[in-house]
Amino acid sequence: MSDHTVLHVKGRVLVGPDEVRDELWVVGGRVTYDRPSAAPDVTVDGWTLPGLVDAHCHVGLDAHGPVDAATAEKQALTDREIGALLIRDAGSPSDTRWIDDREDLPKIIRAGRHIARTRRYIRNYAHEIEPSDLVAYVAREARRGDGWVKLVGDWIDRDAGDLTACWPRAEVEEAIAEAHRLGARVTAHCFAEDSLRDLVEAGIDCIEHATGLTEETIPLFAERGVAIVPTLVNIATFPQLADGGEAKFPKWSRHMRRLYDRRYDTVRSAYDAGVPVFAGTDAGGSLAHGLVAAEVAELRHAGIPAVDALSATTWGARTWLGRPGLEEGAPADLVVYGADPRQDVGVLAAPRRVVLNGRVVG
Ligand SMILES: [Zn+2]
Repeated sequence: MSDHTVLHVKGRVLVGPDEVRDELWVVGGRVTYDRPSAAPDVTVDGWTLPGLVDAHCHVGLDAHGPVDAATAEKQALTDREIGALLIRDAGSPSDTRWIDDREDLPKIIRAGRHIARTRRYIRNYAHEIEPSDLVAYVAREARRGDGWVKLVGDWIDRDAGDLTACWPRAEVEEAIAEAHRLGARVTAHCFAEDSLRDLVEAGIDCIEHATGLTEETIPLFAERGVAIVPTLVNIATFPQLADGGEAKFPKWSRHMRRLYDRRYDTVRSAYDAGVPVFAGTDAGGSLAHGLVAAEVAELRHAGIPAVDALSATTWGARTWLGRPGLEEGAPADLVVYGADPRQDVGVLAAPRRVVLNGRVVG
């Protein structure tokens, strides 16, 4: 049992971007910097980070909709294996509350079920509703989730043959105010340009993907502190999606390709302007779980410096989500690497040890 195991973690403990210690201990499943009297049962050595955050991940979901508990467990274990020990679930039709009772599975911060416009999202995923019902559904999912609500902000409009915004400004403004009143933050899936200004001016807290950011909207995001979770490993699939839709929706296809072509510039420009950027994979729809290291590598590829790309999945992401890192007394969720991830974020792909709630699980 974790309660009786004393773990000694030594080497370089990366407590924060500017704070490095030589060692920590785990006693009773929690981090301490006071050497315990008992000799350690286990010693691990290397470069230690707080458990990684996958800020956009779907547990309990696959390409066709909700999955059974055994499949959801497998997904969560795949995330754990790469060291993703805190997941912001960006929308799921499954009830995965049982995971909260499992000390051996990653912690999940839920956004309830996606809220989309009728026939404007992937089948079997979302509540599909019209704007007049938006406030009521947002209130409902705010109560069901763990402090987040997820909207689908834009999607292909088959009549227009292109991506268009899903929600009128007045309704979305009222819905976001209602979520905030209930203590929940709101995020939205947005690929295109045209929904962003309304959502940000309506008070939204975060945008997923955010491929449609432009030099007009980036300053607005920066000024209001609206975060983005680019999910570049998912954006990588745009050309394939564009090919598939080409014959029926050529305009949409071209649009998707443009968003894809400028994706790294978009992320880099947002970062340079001071927009908070976090690492999320969008695992669980069509993408596999366990891709958070690949996403951090993509953030680096976009030009984000290594320490900030790491922060997007560790220190910064945990602060943003209101969860502790490696401070005294925090649950011992940490990942140990054989080399310094600040020198090369590529080391995230092969953790030496994964410790969750004080137990070595990988
Ligand atoms: Zn998603």
